[in-house]
Amino acid sequence: MSAPVGWGIVPTNHELRLYNSLGRRMEDFTPAAAVAGLYSCGPTVYAYPHLGNMRAYVFADTLRRALRWKEIPVRHVLNITDVGHAVADTNTGEDKLEVAAARERRSVMDIAAYYTDVFLVDSAALNLLPADEYPRASTYVEPMIEFAKKLDHDGFTYQLPSGLYFDTARDPGYGELAQMSTEGQLEAARLEHVEGRLRKTDFALWRAEEPGKRRVLRWDSPWGWGAPGWHLECSVMSMALLGQHFDLHTGGVDHRELHHVNEIAQSQAFLGDGRPWVRYWLHNEFLQLGAEKMAKSAGGAPRLADLTEAGYHPMAYRLFLLGGHYRSQLDFTNAAIDAAQATLRRLVSRVQPLRPLPPVETLAGARQRTEGDPAAQRLLDTIDAAVAADLGTPKILAALQDALREPALTPDGQRAVVAAADALLGLGLGSLDPADLEHRRALSELSGQEKQAIEELVADRTQARKERDWARADQIRAELDELGVALTDTPDGPVWQLR
Ligand SMILES: [Zn+2]
Repeated sequence: MSAPVGWGIVPTNHELRLYNSLGRRMEDFTPAAAVAGLYSCGPTVYAYPHLGNMRAYVFADTLRRALRWKEIPVRHVLNITDVGHAVADTNTGEDKLEVAAARERRSVMDIAAYYTDVFLVDSAALNLLPADEYPRASTYVEPMIEFAKKLDHDGFTYQLPSGLYFDTARDPGYGELAQMSTEGQLEAARLEHVEGRLRKTDFALWRAEEPGKRRVLRWDSPWGWGAPGWHLECSVMSMALLGQHFDLHTGGVDHRELHHVNEIAQSQAFLGDGRPWVRYWLHNEFLQLGAEKMAKSAGGAPRLADLTEAGYHPMAYRLFLLGGHYRSQLDFTNAAIDAAQATLRRLVSRVQPLRPLPPVETLAGARQRTEGDPAAQRLLDTIDAAVAADLGTPKILAALQDALREPALTPDGQRAVVAAADALLGLGLGSLDPADLEHRRALSELSGQEKQAIEELVADRTQARKERDWARADQIRAELDELGVALTDTPDGPVWQLR
């Protein structure tokens, strides 16, 4: 879109409007510096990430791809919470990691390493662009203590036997992001009783060890031995890696009501410069798991591996998510994922004759490749308008379908439009193997004998690796590969599944 010269509006490829939870309105996005800073609240690595958890990261990835489309360089930080996330809302008491370690009879660090690996494997399967940094909370405890010390020194805190608390009464703007009265927030947050706490909104910066209850992961602090409060890590790690102020902060809509409210309160108290800490807060809606739960793992919500074991491709899940806007609730049902897999299969069979797709990642690049093809340029404008209107992925999908049907397109124009849509959607249409989209054999369809044969090969390979016989280990891996078995090595040993 062009604007008259001299009106102070520069016509660029960069126009991007995003829905800012802070103020609940659409705003033009302009990064404050040459490289936009983006922080996404990451997983607490004490259990398998379920499909609903992964929606937040597919959303952050969609944002990354939109920024790339607009040629806005970005530095993305996604944290790994491996300490400090309390089980209860009170922020006191047991840590999720420590509870999981006790339950699974493994060390806390083993638990964290294992579930971090699972998260990264799932992220790769969903074709998420890797973050620039994945900071671990446990490696930032010293700066967290320093951060809390400053708040303590500046009078924003009070100490109780259970730890150091942030005094939310000191922050007149507390809860602005949640747009709730403090009273409303009390109801919504279902906060529990903490002995001596002045207000229910006050939260722990430091959780002191209970007498006689020694934590596994513990640090010494001016407020006694213990561990940092969960909210603290995101403020400290984001500032350490992105600078004191940065542009974008993402997370699930559940974070909008409490975690992010507390991050803002402590960060703005810490900075004390009267400026908003982060300018754009973006939140994705929930994934509703329908009545037909796919959960096969005891009572838990389904995870990506449950889908792949049932014969679905991870990209079918990604396509299902992108078929809705990130700010709409989505119902996950068997019918919906079936439909997504069928759509993906059709898309791939239509794109296959167009391969190889050209390397198109930006609007400018796509425009260049479609010069002289007005039909292709019109489709690009449609795609760009969808991106610019708060990441309208359903409209990008529709434009992709149109591009595959439109007879007026030149072959090169069609390739460029398809490549452009795929760069934004991240479905990997340029390389997906149609055979991978056929309904794959489920684990339950394997005979006992087949299962045993696979287990034996996996064990042989583990033995070969122990003996440092890499040639044999590789050979067995190739055999497994031929059987359609995908193997992932984790600190806990190899994990296999059918491809
Ligand atoms: Zn966070």
